[in-house]
Amino acid sequence: MAVLGHVDHGKTSLLDKIRGSAVIEGEAGAITQHIGATAVPLDIISSIAGDLVDPDDFDLPGLLFIDTPGHHSFTTLRSRGGALADIAILVVDVNDGFQPQTLEALDILKRSQTPFIVAANKIDTVPGWDPNEDAPINDTYESQSERVRQRLDESLYEIIGNLSDEGFSADLYWRVQNFQRNVGVVPVSAMTGEGVPDLLTVMMGLSQRYMKEEMEIDVSGPGVGTVLEVKEEKGFGKTVDIVLYDGTIKEDDTIVVGGQNDPIVTEVRALLQPRPLAEIRTESRFENVDEVGAAAGIKVAAPELGDAMAGAPVRVVRDRDLDDVIEEVQAELASIAVDTAEEGVVVKADTLGSLEAMADALDEAEVPIVRAEVGDVAPRDISVASTAEDPKQQVILGFNVDVLSDAEHRAETDDVTIFTDEVIYQLVEEYDEYVEGIEQAQQDTILENISRPARFRILPDHTFRQNDPAVVGVEVNSGTVQNNATVVKFEGNEPERVGQIKGIQEQGEDVDEARAGNRVSVAIDGPTVGRQIEEDDELWIQIPEKHAKILEQELADEIPADELEALNMYLDKQRSRDPFWGK
Ligand code: GDP
Repeated sequence: MAVLGHVDHGKTSLLDKIRGSAVIEGEAGAITQHIGATAVPLDIISSIAGDLVDPDDFDLPGLLFIDTPGHHSFTTLRSRGGALADIAILVVDVNDGFQPQTLEALDILKRSQTPFIVAANKIDTVPGWDPNEDAPINDTYESQSERVRQRLDESLYEIIGNLSDEGFSADLYWRVQNFQRNVGVVPVSAMTGEGVPDLLTVMMGLSQRYMKEEMEIDVSGPGVGTVLEVKEEKGFGKTVDIVLYDGTIKEDDTIVVGGQNDPIVTEVRALLQPRPLAEIRTESRFENVDEVGAAAGIKVAAPELGDAMAGAPVRVVRDRDLDDVIEEVQAELASIAVDTAEEGVVVKADTLGSLEAMADALDEAEVPIVRAEVGDVAPRDISVASTAEDPKQQVILGFNVDVLSDAEHRAETDDVTIFTDEVIYQLVEEYDEYVEGIEQAQQDTILENISRPARFRILPDHTFRQNDPAVVGVEVNSGTVQNNATVVKFEGNEPERVGQIKGIQEQGEDVDEARAGNRVSVAIDGPTVGRQIEEDDELWIQIPEKHAKILEQELADEIPADELEALNMYLDKQRSRDPFWGK
């Protein structure tokens, strides 16, 4: 079972509260502290939950809470078929409501079709709240003033509304009849413990329903699990923290672990458990154990684990055929492999599960991926990204990973842009904006270097100078006349070069261009009025065939309508001679 939600909404506090209450309620030894997880036995849960739970109604051993903060662990476990994350608690701060990581967590729950309940946390912060330590929600709710109750109701209905916006039909948990169809919202406080009995009761009910149907733990067979984290451990080298959801793992067992390249085949040197009730994230001293059975979290020390990946499968070989087990691990890895393209961006993520989620999101956004890997952003990632031809693909997108300092340096010299974020859709959004910026800049430079179409007419009685250069008054009919552009005149449909524009004046002022509708005087180097050009002549700005092609095929949406009109008329004339001109 995993706890997820936005940062600071109270995931850790809620777990601590459950653990803490458990310690107070029961004999301390009954709570088993695992690597990355805490197991709370049923009898302890029932004593916390008080009258709400009758242990006789359940045939579960208890609940195993995954401790790894954030939703990383969850993306690791989801879709692995790991029974441990078959249900989830989504924590939402009643005052803060839905936030980016709440939405992301919901998205993950939706995709993986994981049943979950919502813990509407921090109810004690509702102004005027009168706390009742560890009370069931109904009791404490009844004891609040009318105003306080109203305030809480408002916050809760907002959360229910938000859930419904995301496509979940939700209600306060005591009104939910069918947890398979509706999401139950449980008001709680991780601080005062109010509502925690309710939360545990609902969790027990949910686990009972789903686990009974979906899993029978085989506690004696060879172990099956998932890597939660790969960690350097003093005296042991690289170790893996795993969640074992099936079978057992023993010292000296041969195991197969999913790696960056091939599956790793190695032998268990030591199985390490933190000392009882120590906080595993800060505890560095471990206890050796000979054997562990599911469900459990355990640190495995073994040689050659350097390439292991968070989220990858782990399987104990024992009396099975090694090749069969390798094949199983390969098959499982293949099922979560990301499709890569010849060209695209480089993606890095903290676990296989989050890599998969990233790939899904990028696929939806139609962003191709050239390489997708678990791990921090390293110099070799920069090398790959820097070889992309398209500057939009000289990019690394990192989800929940660090950028190694030498990689950061390389990125600067190699012109590779790195984006990192803790929220997938924000990462994709940042990249989208970046791409838009590049495309805009590219179009701007193209437009600057391309001939702009224009059709204009010499006005009668507006010859100011006959030649060297000819200076005439003109009216621009459509398009944009720019200084230094080449002028042509059509004889029938045959374009003839007239000369080059050497200056534009509007009401006596020098300007760089004249737009449709403007009347300006232009100096044209080349012709003599009365010979190559006459008053009332229709003139055009010459468009090289290559430019015409770019304008028509790539920039049609970028240029003004009148310029497009001039372009089309120009193309019509050219294509009446040569139908493939500019195609
Ligand atoms: P996480 O990031 O989701 O794990 O959030 P934490 O558990 O670290 O909580 C963030 C902050 O909110 C901490 O300062 C907690 O003390 C506080 N907090 C968590 N739950 C509650 C609650 O129910 N009531 C109050 N008043 N504060 C809470």
